Amino acid sequence: MGRTPIVGHVIREFLPWRHMLTYIEAILRVYNRYGRRDNLWKARIKILVKSLGVEAFAREVEAEWAEVKDSPSTLTQEEVARVSAHFTAPAYEDLPAIDASYVQSLADSRSFSRWAERNVHPHRRPGYAAVTLSLKKTGVPPGDATAEQMDFVADLADRYSFGELRVSHEQNLILADVRKRDLFALWQAAKSQGLATPNVGLLTNVVCCPGGDFCSLANAKSIPIAEAIQLRFDDLDYLHDIGELDLNISGCMNSCGHHHIGHIGILGVDKQGAEFYQVSIGGRQGSAAALGQVIGPSFAAAEMPDVVAKLIDTYLEQRHEDELFVDTVHRVGIAPFKSRVYGAGHGRDGEGAAPPLSAAA
Ligand code: SF4
Repeated sequence: MGRTPIVGHVIREFLPWRHMLTYIEAILRVYNRYGRRDNLWKARIKILVKSLGVEAFAREVEAEWAEVKDSPSTLTQEEVARVSAHFTAPAYEDLPAIDASYVQSLADSRSFSRWAERNVHPHRRPGYAAVTLSLKKTGVPPGDATAEQMDFVADLADRYSFGELRVSHEQNLILADVRKRDLFALWQAAKSQGLATPNVGLLTNVVCCPGGDFCSLANAKSIPIAEAIQLRFDDLDYLHDIGELDLNISGCMNSCGHHHIGHIGILGVDKQGAEFYQVSIGGRQGSAAALGQVIGPSFAAAEMPDVVAKLIDTYLEQRHEDELFVDTVHRVGIAPFKSRVYGAGHGRDGEGAAPPLSAAA
């Protein structure tokens, strides 16, 4: 991420596990030898890979690895077993895969089933599920929780998930090991504390950095933008119709809000002392990671909800059945989105149409 976002490259298709440490050591040795440690802005492996080229970098690593391949850092079965012993599974019960009371609750309560659809995830153990407690309630800064909520969540973890709680990079909390038969009670408890918004994966699950409200590096505020967008799209039926959509906001190029990989990414920029927002679309995380493409000149804060609405309208017109926003962007390119947002002729600075992202890549 940061000011020079780069999608990772494969430099070796297969590596036997016992060579994991020595191979990483070889990568670090190459970086230490050729990396730009003399320049704060360029002191990153990604910058070195970019300047050397992926193939050349991989060749250097292979040459270095030939020297350290069978060094004492080579992993052994015994060492892996020793470390693995510190990561034991919780004391799972043997449960049936289908829990009748859970199935009944899903049938009885539309609110519960909607939450389960978005915030409950499959588990490899029969009878268990993982749960996301949403910290994305409209009107609350994304990812924020009060001290009282944290105490409450700690109790939920003790009661329902072997005392373990995880924080996701999408600024939510995860209870990783919940019995299906406890899901209804957990939902009711979470709901009482405003932690059960059924929006995981949806537009209002905004990832947002602290921005100008808290961060001295910011070019612009980000939390009020997130709030304005959440308020504008606070209708759950509409949100579900739009489907999965990641919206990420950063207050400056440091990208703590991961705007480069948002299906819609928003970046705060400074224009002669005023706060503006640059918009990109088509980014995504995961195995098909991609960086978003900037659609054009930036916007004032007050314009942002309308801009997002126009992007979504364009998607709803263009989408194929069951096609996600980001897939539509990659299929049709950014031009139709740009036209809608900036008006005929592609607006403010007369920029022309861009090719589909896949073609551009
Ligand atoms: S992206 Fe910029 S403004 Fe936001 S938290 Fe990071 S450094 Fe601060």
